[in-house]
Amino acid sequence: MSPPPSTPSSTVGFVGLGHMGTPMVSRLVDAGVTVRAYDASPEARAACSGAVPGATVVDSAADTATGAEAVLLCLPDSDVVEAVVAELDAARVVVDMSSSEPLRTRALAAQLAETGRVLVDAPVSGGVAGARAGTLAIMVGGPEEVVGELEPLLTAMGRPRHVGPVGAGHALKALNNLMSAAHLLASSEAVLVGEEFGLDPAVMLEVVNGSSGRSGSTENKWPNHILPGTYGAGFAIGLMVKDIHIALDLAGSTGVPTRHAAATVAVWDAALAALGPGADHTEIARWLREEAS
Ligand code: NAD
Repeated sequence: MSPPPSTPSSTVGFVGLGHMGTPMVSRLVDAGVTVRAYDASPEARAACSGAVPGATVVDSAADTATGAEAVLLCLPDSDVVEAVVAELDAARVVVDMSSSEPLRTRALAAQLAETGRVLVDAPVSGGVAGARAGTLAIMVGGPEEVVGELEPLLTAMGRPRHVGPVGAGHALKALNNLMSAAHLLASSEAVLVGEEFGLDPAVMLEVVNGSSGRSGSTENKWPNHILPGTYGAGFAIGLMVKDIHIALDLAGSTGVPTRHAAATVAVWDAALAALGPGADHTEIARWLREEAS
């Protein structure tokens, strides 16, 4: 059994109380951290107060930084992150746990460094279930000593891994989601073909999960969200498509040819246009079935 994480007795700010943010705040509070939490949506603030009574919900992003050693962000994208960071003059350390654009993250870090402040990127993987359980994979980019200071805090939410300088976490996260999007698309097409041929999807998945075709999609998304027809993974397709475009842009900046990625992104773009940005990303399987019929 692994040892329990050290308990940080610090105060942090937290901005972005959505599907991921609220359960992450809950894990921090459970670990003994004082959390000053904010979201632009009054409904999200109220929901966080109800779900995590131990958190202190405040009225502005700026107020989260009061007395805080760091302010953590779990926001939709780089546009929102930049707008919120502009209000966080009082924060010495900002930790962007959103899935943001790595090159913009680097530029923002350089801007903060002009006033002696530090930006660390620490995006997460593991979904709402991982956020609730405190088992998120956390991909951390930033200076060694600051990342070391943050480790107890991050450990309250999951398994932090320092992957390189600032921006490295966001690059890895985008590439992870490119793989995840490709797996979900590939498995969805394969299950449809199998069904048409007369195979039972549940039997297909059982066998594939003991075979070389398995992935997070076949082991988790299909049995828990697609086969039951609930489509409730809690990750919006608009956010997934944002992430895979970040990965494709990153590929373009490196010059590596990525024909498969381009084809994957094109199908996800079509699904987004048909389903709208708020649909759960697992609904791509339902959309493919409708397209096929
Ligand atoms: P979400 O839409 O549920 O939550 C985002 C929150 O940010 C919302 O409550 C929104 O009101 C708030 N917000 C937007 N603009 C704001 C502003 N200017 N000031 C303050 N708050 C503002 O999204 P989510 O699913 O929690 O995802 C958050 C981030 O984590 C995204 O970058 C996403 O790509 C990433 N992510 C999500 C999942 C998942 O499974 N949902 C998994 C891994 C990573």
